[in-house]
Amino acid sequence: MTRIAIAGAAGRMGRNLVVACHEEDGLTLTQAVARPQSESIGCDSGTLSAIESNGIVISDQLDPNQFDVLIDFTHPAATSQYIELCQQKRKAMVIGTTGCDAALEQQIQQAGESIPIVYAANTSIGVNLCLQLLQTAATVLGDSVDIEIVEAHHRNKVDAPSGTALKMGQVIATALGRNLDDCAVYGREGQTGKRERATIGIESIRAGDIVGEHTVIFAAEGERIEITHKASSRMIFARGAIRASRWVSQQSPGVFTMQDVLR
Ligand code: NAD
Repeated sequence: MTRIAIAGAAGRMGRNLVVACHEEDGLTLTQAVARPQSESIGCDSGTLSAIESNGIVISDQLDPNQFDVLIDFTHPAATSQYIELCQQKRKAMVIGTTGCDAALEQQIQQAGESIPIVYAANTSIGVNLCLQLLQTAATVLGDSVDIEIVEAHHRNKVDAPSGTALKMGQVIATALGRNLDDCAVYGREGQTGKRERATIGIESIRAGDIVGEHTVIFAAEGERIEITHKASSRMIFARGAIRASRWVSQQSPGVFTMQDVLR
């Protein structure tokens, strides 16, 4: 039985992860952690997630002796601390937190030398299928199209563009031999001048309770291809993360993506 700890267990994703872990055979939730000031500390994580009481009380302390895989859906500052702890205690991780800066991404790569980590800005199986479709579309269409990425999320999301939109941009840029940092154009405004073909546009919408929508437009003269993914439930991310946690528990050190998990 693989023992799972969830960091961010009181959050929107955390509560879905508790449910997804409960649904899965062969995994057992042994710890549920939230930030120290969280009003959910002391609550039963099952009850909080609207399933039956599971006896796992939300705590602000992570005990490294009580889990095999840590699933982290928190905030970059918290993620950094959890990586340190997992590295010290040689524990596997699934990191779903987005908005990680270059320093944190470097910390993840370094930690991957001693522990197995799945690092995925989007753990949905459908989104990861879209990444494969985008790679194919970019390779076939090449420089003959203008490429734009439009993403929409709920009003409480704190980072933009979404980690998924950036990942989509990276997959497309790599397929075209471009560097996303050099060719991305974010949220145009004012006298922008004519569009340069080699750019990749990225637009973010924040509104209401939108769970997560991404559309990539490949526009040529006379035709347009759009690849869209719409999430209507956070359970798609939770189920993917649970699948990743089962997979990563069997791996040697390294940093892996959802594409590796689904192979
Ligand atoms: P949320 O605000 O609802 O929950 C965040 C949780 O993190 C809370 O439980 C909070 O207590 C905890 N937290 C914050 N700071 C902490 C700290 N310093 N120490 C311990 N715990 C801390 O947010 P959410 O919608 O659940 O999203 C969480 C993260 O997951 C975000 O980065 C979001 O973008 C990302 N996300 C990823 C995917 C994916 O597929 N990878 C999908 C959805 C969301």
